[in-house]
Amino acid sequence: MSKRYYCDYCEKTMVSSPSIIKTHVKGVVHQKLVSAHYQHFKDPETILKEESCKKPCTRFPRGECNFGGICRFSHYTPEQINALRDYVASKYNNLNEASQPSFQDLYQRLQGNLHESCKKCPTRG
Ligand SMILES: [Zn+2]
Ligand SMILES: [Zn+2]
Repeated sequence: MSKRYYCDYCEKTMVSSPSIIKTHVKGVVHQKLVSAHYQHFKDPETILKEESCKKPCTRFPRGECNFGGICRFSHYTPEQINALRDYVASKYNNLNEASQPSFQDLYQRLQGNLHESCKKCPTRG
């Protein structure tokens, strides 16, 4: 009767009915969180491939884009794309593991940049 469905991504419980879950999973908020979640597990090559074939989002720099990770336009700046390209290239050209910048560092840097250009981000300031 009172079975509840818990969405790990949204950290929300809801009535465990197929139609309610289906609607929830299709919702923009959920999709955004799922995409943000998987972005962490994507390798830089995948991100580079995806982002370099997207047109830049014109709304995101003004903080007006509500699509987040599911936007069909890129939220990466040309500098960030270049940083990714350099990273991917260095991965192939430089086989000395020790001198590799860790992707985690790069990712943090990119996220930092993204947050700085996101005027609405609550973690800012
Ligand atoms: Zn959800
Ligand atoms: Zn966008």
